[in-house]
Amino acid sequence: METLALAPFKEVIDGIKETGGEAFSLCYQCGLCETACPWNRVRKFFVRSIIHQAQLGVVDFGSEDIWLCATCGACVERCPRGVKIIDVMRAMRRLLVPDGVVPASIPNLRGVMTSIASVGNPWQQEAEGRANWAKDLGIKDFTEGTELLYFPCCTPAFDPRVQSVARATGQILTKLGVDFGILGSKEVCCGESVRKAGNEQLFKRLAKENIKTFIDNGVKKILVSSPHCYHAFKNEYTEFKANFEVVHVSQYLFELINEGKLKLTREYKKKVTYHDPCYLGRHNGIYDEPREVLKKVPGLELVEMADSRENSLCCGGGGGRIWMETKKGERLSDLRLQQAIDAGAEVLVTACPYCIINFKDSQLTLEDSKVIEIKDITEIIQEAI
Ligand code: SF4
Ligand code: SF4
Repeated sequence: METLALAPFKEVIDGIKETGGEAFSLCYQCGLCETACPWNRVRKFFVRSIIHQAQLGVVDFGSEDIWLCATCGACVERCPRGVKIIDVMRAMRRLLVPDGVVPASIPNLRGVMTSIASVGNPWQQEAEGRANWAKDLGIKDFTEGTELLYFPCCTPAFDPRVQSVARATGQILTKLGVDFGILGSKEVCCGESVRKAGNEQLFKRLAKENIKTFIDNGVKKILVSSPHCYHAFKNEYTEFKANFEVVHVSQYLFELINEGKLKLTREYKKKVTYHDPCYLGRHNGIYDEPREVLKKVPGLELVEMADSRENSLCCGGGGGRIWMETKKGERLSDLRLQQAIDAGAEVLVTACPYCIINFKDSQLTLEDSKVIEIKDITEIIQEAI
């Protein structure tokens, strides 16, 4: 068994401001975290043992289990001792990613980190192409005095599977006459998943770069498509004394409807179920706004899945897992897609580009899953305006 001693581990744990040294010492091994962890629906994942190893300071780094955690937060909600399990996982990964070098045993993640470090996005795309999704939409560049910056996230900006999310958002804002702009190649990855994957150094660099860009360009309010960008800007960039107003698109649509600026008049006569992304729901408490927006769509019938809101089943894409391989038969997104089908939904709607990618991937391999469509909330609203 390859182990590391407690000293460096504790040093990293202590270095994580919000956890201090108490991150794992409070655990009394009740095992509720394992019951809550979605991985145990598809395979064994001994969360309690990992915390115990951390307590003993004999952490088994030969095992690849430490890369499994999708930072969904289900265990943290359930833990009676308030152990910050995600921070412990993150601290362990930090030990494995010294100087930003990911172990060769996780090749995909290694490639992604290299790409983000060199071109600012996970997809090895030239930074100059970051605004290509908006080319034919007449969206202006953000300049000082513009009310709102739209930050689409690397994934909708570059990935053809979810570019429709950025396009739908841009088109809705334009149609409603919102004063907004984009920064395109001036921005880089928010770094949220980078940090959870253990690359603290790179996260800090990205955060500082984005903060400087936002300040230099006079940004005050940021609209995001991804709950991961939301979490980074709202809860993590504040560590660098940066305070921007951050709003997720589901919240913004809700506001526009309440102010009477967004009117949904076209019928969308389908049975729809909403998947709570972990970083919107459990991590940031945003459960109602997306549902309220959907309920305002004429003809739309909203149904709930077996696990929803605080108990939402993770798609498996958080914590950098969106960039790692997951074996067939062990994909949480397969389970979630099945739950949506079992709920009788014709459309599985969510509000996170990572979730959409995972569900679309599941659809490619799951038999009989073509009966359901997978959409972002903005795509439905665009159809209903
Ligand atoms: S739920 Fe909390 S106290 Fe119980 S085993 Fe897990 S980390 Fe320890
Ligand atoms: S955060 Fe989620 S995936 Fe990670 S150990 Fe906890 S329940 Fe499991």
